[in-house]
Amino acid sequence: MSVADYFPTDFPRARSRFVDAAAQAGARLFTYAHPGQGPRGEPLATEVAWLGPAEAERVLVTVSGTHGAEGFCGSGVQSGWLDSGLAGEQEAGIAYMAVHAINPHGFAWLRRVTEDNVDLNRNFVDFAAPLPENPGYDELAEVLCPPVWDDATIAATHDVLAAYAEAHGTAGLQAAVTNGQYRHPAGIFFGGAGPTWSHLMLKEIFARHLGPARKVAVIDYHTGLGPRGHGERICPVVADSPDLARVRDWYGDDFTCPALGTSSATEICGFNVIGMVEALPGTEVTAIALEYGTLPSEEVKLALRADNWLHLHGDPASAKGRAIKAQLREAFYQDADDWKLMVWERAVETQRLALAGLAGA
Ligand SMILES: [Zn+2]
Repeated sequence: MSVADYFPTDFPRARSRFVDAAAQAGARLFTYAHPGQGPRGEPLATEVAWLGPAEAERVLVTVSGTHGAEGFCGSGVQSGWLDSGLAGEQEAGIAYMAVHAINPHGFAWLRRVTEDNVDLNRNFVDFAAPLPENPGYDELAEVLCPPVWDDATIAATHDVLAAYAEAHGTAGLQAAVTNGQYRHPAGIFFGGAGPTWSHLMLKEIFARHLGPARKVAVIDYHTGLGPRGHGERICPVVADSPDLARVRDWYGDDFTCPALGTSSATEICGFNVIGMVEALPGTEVTAIALEYGTLPSEEVKLALRADNWLHLHGDPASAKGRAIKAQLREAFYQDADDWKLMVWERAVETQRLALAGLAGA
């Protein structure tokens, strides 16, 4: 199978390819059914493949589909890692756990969010405490998600967003839009009003499978930010922490950190690593997001806004709906051999560095 063939064309094929690759590699497979259905009535599930000793103290974990439609990328890498035999190269005593499609609803429906319009990577906040404020988003909420989506509205809202960027800087606009917001359930980058199914499932999977682990490396696959095909290793932790020091140890200078201002991502609220750490008290977790660029950032945000409009006001089966879905897919997945090869090579390099980090003292 060629590298391009690792990458699926839709969610059902992603699942079957992953399940087949896991079986061929001799991995144990666990299926966690999701209560919803896909667009053709297909069942939804998160799957876990485990290769290596069940009680391993050191485990490499990969996660795909945190942001639903971004799952093509991570799923392809996970199936390829199992299918190519690379998963078998790990040192004795180290296990590999692949969490496939942690947000299966978003993956199947080609949405970045979960079934309840929640950005899973903004959902790991303490819902018993006051939720993070985002006055910039509050100001832009209606402009970002207008009730009508046509050329005139796109142009008019573009001008308002450009004026905001003029006043607050491009980074200020990016922070307002993408940091996460907890007041507009129908908006974009909504962090939720409580833990979503995928949030609870991620914690359950980590607690259930990684109990004996002492050292865990996590690579969470994302797309839609940065230069096309480039894989940015983003470390989401606070500056000056031992976790950050370990990331530097493992990956050298080839990583970025929003808290240090070196990343193309801003300092987001409620990211999933918080939940992973909570699920594994006492375990050393070294986590990065591997974020691959697709289209220019403006086009990605436009696709997200269009998709949000479609699900609130439009008809996905209409010509306009299908065009928006194609735009959304393109924003998070480049169906091109050169892009897939760049994704794959960077993923292999990164996972090998993570394995070397796990093998170290
Ligand atoms: Zn993402």
